[in-house]
Amino acid sequence: MSEPRIVSPRPNASEQHLEETLRPRRLAEYIGQDRVKESLTIAIRAAQERGEPLDHLLFYGPPGLGKTTLAGIIAAEMGVNLRITSGPAIERPGDLVSILTNLRPGDVLFIDEIHRLNRLVEEVLYPAMEDFAVDLVIGKGPAARSVRLALPPFTLVGATTRLALLTSPLRDRFGATYRLDFYDLPALRAIVERAARILHVPITPDGAAEIARRGRGTPRIAIRLLKRVRDYAQVMSDGTITAELARLALDRMAIDELGLDDVDRLLLRTIVEKFDGGPVGIQTLAAATSEEPDTIESVYEPYLIQLGFLQRTARGRVATRRAYEHLGVPYPAEQAILQVPLQGLNEGDFVEPDA
Ligand code: ADP
Repeated sequence: MSEPRIVSPRPNASEQHLEETLRPRRLAEYIGQDRVKESLTIAIRAAQERGEPLDHLLFYGPPGLGKTTLAGIIAAEMGVNLRITSGPAIERPGDLVSILTNLRPGDVLFIDEIHRLNRLVEEVLYPAMEDFAVDLVIGKGPAARSVRLALPPFTLVGATTRLALLTSPLRDRFGATYRLDFYDLPALRAIVERAARILHVPITPDGAAEIARRGRGTPRIAIRLLKRVRDYAQVMSDGTITAELARLALDRMAIDELGLDDVDRLLLRTIVEKFDGGPVGIQTLAAATSEEPDTIESVYEPYLIQLGFLQRTARGRVATRRAYEHLGVPYPAEQAILQVPLQGLNEGDFVEPDA
């Protein structure tokens, strides 16, 4: 079996304990995402003053940016319990009813990957969100009747990596929607320094900056890189992470100065070399690289788009001039004409070019 990808923004099974140790517990400890933090601070204070639970909230953005962490922080700030589950984990309507009826007043229910709830389960969620109630059907055939069961008021926090896959009735039932962005360098560096402090890893400011630079704007990845580099520092020097040591260690892991690994480079190379720079449809790209289309779309692409290496157009994915430059491949003049992005396309919108 191959080793899990070092720069995957999804958690490895072995990382759970570490993530719990490093998770900020309060809003004041949460670094970056200032816009979201400010708006949440106000919403939390207002709800507390009214003595009501917070409105249902939806977070969207690539994995590893701190959606679960925020749900935990909201529960802590409101002084209530957090219950964590995910779209694929709730298989039947009865599973959700049981979760909902076990909530205590004010609790936060976090549903990760909420776009993957099945239809029947989702329909249970509508009255639960709107009226704090579930409708149960009792009996069968002509004798069947519907009974409405009251639920304690609660806050649903939904998270998704694919906003456009959410049905509109579900989307409409959230009081607020927040987009989490990739972290800028200073924020990511502060996250690396905080993690190093908690883990008692000596690190220089330059060392932290070097790890942050290759952390793909994603706390989960930056923290993982820190952990890996720590091993190198321990074995190859006196244990302190300097910029030079971080560079050496990350180069050996084949993670380049922008945080790209072999899979990213394969993806870009495939578009550039096999498909003349694109446009190429997501299904074709998935087949050519042996990756899942959903993984390409929610994991690899967002960062490559952020870097300006890839564009989503109505006809498929296109490699940009910057991607060619990064790969050291001359940029063909005829490609320039394709570099016009689709009008009116927002981040998070989903374009299925193969459809
Ligand atoms: P998501 O739910 O979006 O996949 P998580 O909330 O699980 O991401 O965050 C992944 C890891 O990154 C956690 O271990 C958490 O400690 C860390 N992390 C995320 N956001 C921040 C932040 N703003 N400040 C400090 N650490 C963070």
